[in-house]
Amino acid sequence: MRAAVLHGNADLRVEEVADPEIGEGELLVRVAYSGVCGSDVPRLIHNGAHFYPLVLGHEFSGTVVEVGTGIEHNLIGKKVACAPLVPIFEHPQSQRGNFALGKGYSFIGSRQSGGFAEYVVMPRLNAVLLDDSIDLLAGAFMEPLTVGLHAINIMDFRPGRTTAVVGMGTIGILLMQSAKLLGAGPICAFDVDPTKLELARTYGADTVVDSRDEAAVSAAIEAGGYEIVFETAGVPAAEILALKIAAGKGRVMYVGTPHVPLTLQPAEFEEINRKELTIQGSWMNYSAPFPGWEWTFGAEALGNNRIRLDGLIDRVLPLSQAGAVPELLLSKSVRGKIMLDATR
Ligand SMILES: [Zn+2]
Repeated sequence: MRAAVLHGNADLRVEEVADPEIGEGELLVRVAYSGVCGSDVPRLIHNGAHFYPLVLGHEFSGTVVEVGTGIEHNLIGKKVACAPLVPIFEHPQSQRGNFALGKGYSFIGSRQSGGFAEYVVMPRLNAVLLDDSIDLLAGAFMEPLTVGLHAINIMDFRPGRTTAVVGMGTIGILLMQSAKLLGAGPICAFDVDPTKLELARTYGADTVVDSRDEAAVSAAIEAGGYEIVFETAGVPAAEILALKIAAGKGRVMYVGTPHVPLTLQPAEFEEINRKELTIQGSWMNYSAPFPGWEWTFGAEALGNNRIRLDGLIDRVLPLSQAGAVPELLLSKSVRGKIMLDATR
């Protein structure tokens, strides 16, 4: 089969590799679309891969084409999305339903072969069934969609609370729509990019604030702040802003993955004390029973077209042209998600 193999830093080559072998309890999925995730950027261009050679891709959809022994034959032909975590189910954290918190797990697309390929083999549990009517390009957004749903799932989320989402990248936009779907509101979107704020408004944000606009940020704080704040950017300015805009007794949920140190001035740290904030973090997108509510709810929401995705895609590249991805990322010209079409 054809796959985009990462051979070294910024060295992605489309080549013929051995067809994956299907084992007991596994499925063979013909990949339709595979998204390039923000977490793939360090793997692709900042020496961040666990090993080489490696086939990345953990945000993908496809169709079941073969089943291993012990698996229902009627799954053949079904549309699926991949839930990429392969947990150690015996781990004490997994036993408590915290599948992503136990060490030693595997992960399709970063620790084992993923979706930048024509075919992927995965355990039955990792294939999330999608409705026949779903567009497989939308199906490839299941993984990033469930990241926001997980943050909502693990916190004390109540409908009707004033909510802010800081960072309108893929995760932020999807989280904002999910929160709205689940009754949050009014919702304010924060970002430093006016284009993204415009997109947020189109996708249902009740208000938007340019995080660089000090007067607008102060006005939001003076108006009472937000009972729930999600931080999805993973950069210090956003991490600090999240503390500042939280209301008294508010909840701040950190979703974004940090890459640089964060320094808090005493007055910034004191936001936590003086407002009696509850600070929480969220990691991945799994809950019991595996892979969890995030995936069933996400599949339903996408299947019913209740999540908008059109403005999130920078371009759809044929898998045959995947070799261009590192250069595209290095050029910093990418405005949204690069999707690979694995059938071309
Ligand atoms: Zn991802």
